[in-house]
Amino acid sequence: MTEHDDLVEAILGGHRTTEAEALAVLRTSDEDTLDLVSAVARLRRAYFGMTVKVNYLVNLKSGLCPEDCGYCSQALGSSSEILRYTWLKADEALEQARAGLDGGATRVCMVASGRGPTDRDVERVAGMVGAIKEEHPQTEVCACLGLLKEGQAERLRAAGVDAYNHNINTAESHHDSIVSTHTYADRVATVAKAQGAGLSACSGLIAGLGESDEQLVEALLALRDLGSESIPVNFLMPFDGTPKQQTWELTPLRCLRILATARVLAPQREIRIAAGREMHLRSLQTLGLHLANSIFLGDYLTSEGQAAQDDLALLADGGFTILGADEVPGERRGGGPAIRRRGAGTTEAANA
Ligand code: SF4
Repeated sequence: MTEHDDLVEAILGGHRTTEAEALAVLRTSDEDTLDLVSAVARLRRAYFGMTVKVNYLVNLKSGLCPEDCGYCSQALGSSSEILRYTWLKADEALEQARAGLDGGATRVCMVASGRGPTDRDVERVAGMVGAIKEEHPQTEVCACLGLLKEGQAERLRAAGVDAYNHNINTAESHHDSIVSTHTYADRVATVAKAQGAGLSACSGLIAGLGESDEQLVEALLALRDLGSESIPVNFLMPFDGTPKQQTWELTPLRCLRILATARVLAPQREIRIAAGREMHLRSLQTLGLHLANSIFLGDYLTSEGQAAQDDLALLADGGFTILGADEVPGERRGGGPAIRRRGAGTTEAANA
């Protein structure tokens, strides 16, 4: 038995992970990380079996944001060459949602850039949600529209929205170094408004923003205490044209330790591997799924993910099942081995 096994055993018996224990998990050495994953995966299986919740993002409005979040390609001052467009029409939003649902997603995340919605924006989204729910009544809809004003969460709930995403992004003690146009308290207040209206809170963080180990644990503890029911763990994607360009603080093993820390702190919550999964976990994505129990299918807000078929193959290859889906993800069977036609014996360059 390792100390990780002891901690997991205690958690299964009702122990609440302390800050010191979480820090120790986060600071596991590279060579002990596989043992850590093996131990913490027991928590994931105890509460979620081998199921993976598949979520799909629809970016309703991209770029053009007046806020200055330093990590964000959509922020004021970002010169990232992302798609910039204003609100999708209702039929376009429905078409995008349909694509994700057909691909196996059970939750659609309707996202719009900006500080927060006007009441007119909320009505626009309410109409879109109604159309999605009419066509796909079982689908969960999460809205992510920024800081909410009084009454807006209630209106979204009445329109059929199930959850509201608003990430705290980082620790309170680190927040002001990444954004100046709103405060940590603003973000927490919006999470509370969503909860007050009966929406399920989805709030997470971005790792790799220059935070210390203590600050990463601080953020995860805050999310636990806030009652975030689903916790997206984003790994910073350092877009060119943002203040965080060329910021590379993460390794695949570090990402696994971050997911393990999230799991020991919030063993029964949905932990979602969000943006940066392919870029940072790379060949260890499957191991990540033994800690987390939720992913996004396909593309992110302003960057492309791996092909949706590769996401589904990742689940099938790992023996995972899609939560809420009738079928197990299809195994990918190709057309047999590709015959080598390069390198030795040919005039084509070698694959090296
Ligand atoms: S408020 Fe949202 S869209 Fe705007 S800069 Fe911040 S993270 Fe990006």
